[in-house]
Amino acid sequence: MPASDSADNVKVVVRCRPLNEKEIANGHKQAVEVNEMRGQVSVQKSNSHEPPKTFTFDTVFAPASKQVDVYNLTARPIVDSVLEGYNGTIFAYGQTGTGKTFTMEGIRTHPELRGIIPNSFAHIFGHIAKAEGDTRFLVRVSYLEIYNEEVRDLLGKDQTMRLPVKERPDIGVYVKDLSMYVVNNADDMDKIMTLGNKNRSVGSTDMNEQSSRSHAIFTVTIECSEKGLDGQQHVRVGKLHLVDLAGSERQVKTGATGQRLKEATKINLSLSTLGNVISALVDGRSTHVPYRNSKLTRMLQDSLGGNSKTLMCANIGPANYNYDETISTLRYANRAK
Ligand code: ADP
Ligand code: MG
Repeated sequence: MPASDSADNVKVVVRCRPLNEKEIANGHKQAVEVNEMRGQVSVQKSNSHEPPKTFTFDTVFAPASKQVDVYNLTARPIVDSVLEGYNGTIFAYGQTGTGKTFTMEGIRTHPELRGIIPNSFAHIFGHIAKAEGDTRFLVRVSYLEIYNEEVRDLLGKDQTMRLPVKERPDIGVYVKDLSMYVVNNADDMDKIMTLGNKNRSVGSTDMNEQSSRSHAIFTVTIECSEKGLDGQQHVRVGKLHLVDLAGSERQVKTGATGQRLKEATKINLSLSTLGNVISALVDGRSTHVPYRNSKLTRMLQDSLGGNSKTLMCANIGPANYNYDETISTLRYANRAK
């Protein structure tokens, strides 16, 4: 594989959410300036005479950006290539409250607020509906959560089970006993997502608390069987991983001990490993890609790099009180691009 291939297949974009009502009511100012034409994001520290810090990316989305535009510019080409039998991964990265879930899932009950996941359902089944002749598709989904480096099947019957990650020469890395459901339309996929989301909050008193500390991976496997020129049926398989990452905020507040400290260390490890893997892929000259350093990257190994397409959407908040976390997210994204 030529070095440049994996670099071309990795894209990093930044999305800034609008100020919310509470922030406006509390008099918070917009500290982030987004120039979509130039692909630039500038962040101004409040009460400071320093010039703003400016970062440049492939694509940036201003607070007023529409879900459909985000889909078309980021996910659509990846889903198209998954339909052709390649693998793809889409990540939402960022501090809790900046719009990772809004970007990935959105508000599913409102068509114009639907995020990347429901839009990809519509796209996939729209494509399948147009298939001609002997072309057949089989779509399966799984949904899991990585919490504390442990894997839980969000579609499993027993939510107390933790699943092992295994490896086999013929199929590569896989999660043992993970549930897979065949889905026939976008509605089926939607129902499964709802079921999995219910299980995400099991065992936690506060849903947002749990989701900010775990990675959720929704995987769609698309098998396409087509008659080739030789008259035989040929099967292509593409896999799409849609990943809502744990919050990137610094989890260790002074004095964190025990369980909290353990969790925080693992989140930091998995997000920094992901950053290292992506920057090694983009760099192209690295001989070692550290997939094995976290469960997340190990599980996604066959869908990161090579022919696979990867998109990282770094989400940031607009307000001045988020300055430090915003800069840290932009630095992370900048290094990954
Ligand atoms: P995260 O998953 O990163 O913690 P959320 O996606 O839950 O953040 O977003 C926090 C809040 O901000 C939610 O109420 C969400 O609907 C809202 N929000 C996020 N991004 C946008 C956006 N681009 N436009 C409008 N509202 C947004
Ligand atoms: Mg979220």
